[in-house]
Amino acid sequence: MQVNNKTMLITGASSGLGRKLAAEAAASGYRLLLAARSEEKLKQLAAELNDRFQVDVFVYRADLSDSKEWRAALQRIVWENQRIDVLINNAGVGYFRHFADTEIEQMETTMRVNSLAAMEAAAAIIPGMLVHGAGHVIMIGSMAGKVATPKAAVYGASKHAIIGFSNGLRQELKPQGIKVTTVNLGPMDTNFFDTADPSGRYRQASANYMLQPEKVASRVIACIGKNKREINMPGWMGIGSKLYQLVPGLAEKLLGSQLSKK
Ligand code: NAP
Repeated sequence: MQVNNKTMLITGASSGLGRKLAAEAAASGYRLLLAARSEEKLKQLAAELNDRFQVDVFVYRADLSDSKEWRAALQRIVWENQRIDVLINNAGVGYFRHFADTEIEQMETTMRVNSLAAMEAAAAIIPGMLVHGAGHVIMIGSMAGKVATPKAAVYGASKHAIIGFSNGLRQELKPQGIKVTTVNLGPMDTNFFDTADPSGRYRQASANYMLQPEKVASRVIACIGKNKREINMPGWMGIGSKLYQLVPGLAEKLLGSQLSKK
């Protein structure tokens, strides 16, 4: 373990990628602030990481779909921590179903947790980074933010929003020494699918190329402090997304069956 005296806020740290990001960051000596709704899971993780890596870990329970609650938690986070060096907007949710079958509440939750809550966190944390002329904001996006697919129109919209936000923010903050990186992932082996697709069909269809969250976490933590615009995993999906941007009609024809696996 190397102590680096830096503080990192991770949202959605109670499960999946967020847990692995926390473990990887703790192994590098970060002081951690972990946010999510499952307070008990966060507390257990905090105790485990403190025990294994002797780093300070603080827990903030908040429902990110509730703007008022999340903004109050962010106020506390800023008040209680002198300096936050890294923000990882990782919390996310999806409901993979036809748009006609999607409830308004599910649309609202998806947009709030995946997009608006990340902007609210950025709004609270970036002013402190500006004071110090340094910092790194990392957004966990998705390949769905590059290529929208059937049964994920709303999820795709929320991830397109966060990639657009990051691209603008990166240009605004570059002169002030603050870095912004977007992480766009294909299917990853986490509990995400328990909510996104309880039928298990999509998980099964993408079993051959499921990302492992440990590997993703180690790539993400390794990019901190570097001028990295995007991490795209798996690489072949990143290339496919570029093809889609160049010739979307042709790409939808060629990749149609691949895009319709949900
Ligand atoms: P996960 O295991 O389901 O974890 C999601 C995390 O987000 C949990 O810690 C959850 O915490 C938190 N979260 C969800 N709703 C929340 C809310 N209303 N308030 C506060 N926290 C909330 O899924 P994951 O795969 O690790 O997801 C991490 C990120 O990767 C997400 O942004 C997701 O969109 C993205 N991603 C996932 C995949 C995939 O295939 N798994 C692919 C591409 C991108 P609580 O439930 O405790 O609140």
